[in-house]
Amino acid sequence: MSALHHLQQQLKTLKLSGMLDAIETRVAQAEDGHLGYFDFLELLLEDEIARRARNRLSTRVARAHFDEVKTFETFDFHADPALPSQQIRDLATCRFVETHACVLICGPVGAGKTHVAQALGVEACRRGYTVFFTKTARFLRDLGGGRADGSWEQRFRRYLKPDLLLLDDFAMQDFTPAQGEDLYQLIDERVGRGSLIVTSNRSPQDWYPLFSNAVLAESALDRLAGAAHQLTLTGKSYRPRLRPPLGPTIAPEVERP
Ligand code: ADP
Ligand code: MG
Repeated sequence: MSALHHLQQQLKTLKLSGMLDAIETRVAQAEDGHLGYFDFLELLLEDEIARRARNRLSTRVARAHFDEVKTFETFDFHADPALPSQQIRDLATCRFVETHACVLICGPVGAGKTHVAQALGVEACRRGYTVFFTKTARFLRDLGGGRADGSWEQRFRRYLKPDLLLLDDFAMQDFTPAQGEDLYQLIDERVGRGSLIVTSNRSPQDWYPLFSNAVLAESALDRLAGAAHQLTLTGKSYRPRLRPPLGPTIAPEVERP
């Protein structure tokens, strides 16, 4: 067995996969005389540290349950002149997660609300925060199930745990009294203690009538709005730009003589 192969076996046994992947390159660099002993070891350790950081990030992203992993690398900040690019970039620093603030992202369909929300979630993952993404309807269904089978408390706690919770498509339709209470509880327990991003096609003042209990609505929504950064995306839908270009047009059938 060659010395290199022996080393590779040892790295495998110790589960040092970052070093394992890099060892051949680093040995070659050392043999070329480009690396001294200290540099060689330091670089290999950096390879391992980088691999572990990448693994931790993938775990956090997987646990966030994003619908699709969207990032700011694929976000066009110049898509529309009305796009509040600077505000989005400021939010992308994730200061709001550190200060337990909320973000309300409003705007018409296709304006990029879900993309921005998920990209903010990924930025939070990159900074070591725990994140959970869900659609509001899914969240309400889950808690509804919890009321039915007695596991409400346990399910509810899952939404309090992450540093950042994302509720996509908020206020799409009227809330039943039980749903109104679930949302009230969530807002009451999270605001000020953790971060929350809410996306909606309606502006916050139109959320109030969706609750059957006006007092509950007011106390929940006023608290939420009071603790929130508001991001309004007013641009045209981006979706048409994503459509593949049309194929060659098919000539209409010609009547045969
Ligand atoms: P909304 O949630 O507001 O309805 P989405 O975030 O789902 O809209 O955006 C619709 C589609 O357009 C998605 O595929 C999204 O990635 C893309 N998109 C929207 N805005 C942009 C943008 N500024 N740059 C790149 N892609 C965008
Ligand atoms: Mg959306």
